[in-house]
Amino acid sequence: MTPEQKNNLIEAFDAFLSKKHLRHTPERRAVLEKVVEITGSFSAADIHDILQAENLTLSLATIYSTFALIEEFGIIRRQDYSRRKALYERTGNSPKTFRATNQCHLICTSCGKTRIVTDADLTRYVAGLIFPRFTTTHTSINIYGICPSCNRKNKSKKQ
Ligand SMILES: [Zn+2]
Repeated sequence: MTPEQKNNLIEAFDAFLSKKHLRHTPERRAVLEKVVEITGSFSAADIHDILQAENLTLSLATIYSTFALIEEFGIIRRQDYSRRKALYERTGNSPKTFRATNQCHLICTSCGKTRIVTDADLTRYVAGLIFPRFTTTHTSINIYGICPSCNRKNKSKKQ
């Protein structure tokens, strides 16, 4: 994301908060900035740790409530398939791209870690699928398996 895209996003989020008659707090701004900078899936604890490293301590409750706002704003989505902890992912660089985003997730069935990958051909194919009397808003592709680090652990156990 370019600095310009980031500034536009922050401005749009401020406008979103104003519309909802919510205050523009430094805490909300800090969480949004970290969510925008992070790649891959993340949890409230991840954001908490990143902010803490910058000497900003927020409660997990504050982070979760801000996640809920950012989700409503339209740039993150909670991944419901990870039962171990609530993981979120960014769905685009602006709320406008939210519905058009087609992401593919590689989900490790051993540790629950998720990696987001994009495949242009797969995305184009899925976006072109039309189902009778069904309006597609967005798609999500989940591929389950064993991640490289779990594969390594399994291998070293066998030796
Ligand atoms: Zn794993």
